[in-house]
Amino acid sequence: MSKTTLSSKEMLKRLVGFDTTSVRSNLDLIHWVQNYLKEYGIESSLIHDATKNKANLHAIIGPQNVPGVVLSGHTDVVPVEGQAWDSDPFTLRDHDGLLYGRGTCDMKGFIAVALAKVPEMIRQPLATPIHFALSYDEEIGCLGAHDIARHLEKLPVKPKLCVVGEPTGMKAITGHKGICDFDCVVHGKEAHSSLAPYAVNAVESAAELVAYIKSVARRMANEGPYNKQFDPPFTTVHTGTMKGGTVVNIVPNRCEFSFEIRNIPEVNPETLIEEIRQYAFKTLEPRMKDIDPKTGFEIKASARVPAFDIINTDPAVTFVLSLSGANSTEKVSFATEAGIFHSAGIPTVVCGPGSISQAHKPNEYVAIDQLTKCENFMDRLMEKMRKAA
Ligand SMILES: [Zn+2]
Repeated sequence: MSKTTLSSKEMLKRLVGFDTTSVRSNLDLIHWVQNYLKEYGIESSLIHDATKNKANLHAIIGPQNVPGVVLSGHTDVVPVEGQAWDSDPFTLRDHDGLLYGRGTCDMKGFIAVALAKVPEMIRQPLATPIHFALSYDEEIGCLGAHDIARHLEKLPVKPKLCVVGEPTGMKAITGHKGICDFDCVVHGKEAHSSLAPYAVNAVESAAELVAYIKSVARRMANEGPYNKQFDPPFTTVHTGTMKGGTVVNIVPNRCEFSFEIRNIPEVNPETLIEEIRQYAFKTLEPRMKDIDPKTGFEIKASARVPAFDIINTDPAVTFVLSLSGANSTEKVSFATEAGIFHSAGIPTVVCGPGSISQAHKPNEYVAIDQLTKCENFMDRLMEKMRKAA
């Protein structure tokens, strides 16, 4: 049986062809990768989510008893609905050295280059193993990465470092902000608007909390703490959605909103969350409950990505710099799964092909020369893994 060999571009074409928008299953892609690796004698572990509709994939190429290097990527992509694409987002289109398609830059490009190198990795052979860690649901709050990080943490021999291949133009990224997302439901008490003082207006109570959240955001901007490596250089807090009420002459009994904290590594988001909760439950809610004890706030965390920060002198950083050919590091404002792997005790650096400014947009693309740079990165990685034990 002849084995599948694909160039990075051909591999990317395959991966883009699987519609792995976060609301859908990623299993077709995962099973395809599993079979591809199997052709080369590599067994994969699948770690499913509770619905069994999605899975992470972990595979080791090389010896199992030596600490290795993890190449990590998320398989899901953001939706294309409502975006004006010039061509089918799930069919790779090559035009003027740019490869268009959903996920080309965020982040199937990195995964494609790594997978296309599998035949070469096998040929080396590797003295130090390369791990593949492919996750699901990154785009909706890094849900899959927690399980795969736990899986890596529990291996008999824990990996020594992790490269998360999010689009950084192949620069080495050593820090990003954290994200905490919350859904809030405000339960009020309905009434004819002429009787408003005897009711509990859910929209107004929500607005009071939203205004408080805004005051926290202003304080963070005006008083810090600051970290100049980020843009903006402070923790941001904002309300993203709000929905409530039906008509103007009914006191609304329900309002929903969502808010988000993006913290610099120096700020513990728990303190801010606690402050917002205190205001809701100790200041606003008692006034509501005086009118009707069934009213009040429900605040639930919907997603959590820890902030990520690794010092420049860490051997993992030096190692990734030597592979990328870059000589300096940067911090970014977008979040990745790096904080999850790094918190699991696997020193992590973010480095991958493409630009984040292309991500999540219609006509998303990755430049072929970025894939070439990533191929060179993989070649240097194999070179080091072959020699250094
Ligand atoms: Zn991404």
